[in-house]
Amino acid sequence: MPVYEFQCKCGHITEELVRMDTKTVECPKCHGKAKKILSACSFELKGGGWYADGYASSKKK
Ligand SMILES: [Zn+2]
Repeated sequence: MPVYEFQCKCGHITEELVRMDTKTVECPKCHGKAKKILSACSFELKGGGWYADGYASSKKK
């Protein structure tokens, strides 16, 4: 399973191993909802959607 970053409105960013269709996780700091954000280093917009795994593994530097 891929690691996604989630950012809460309190500003806290957490990384979680979650299923692809998971959109929010509970913020460990304030127990609010942290939303999934795109990590710039592992994701490129190439007609994308959520098929980033192939790109990420083939374009590792
Ligand atoms: Zn929070």
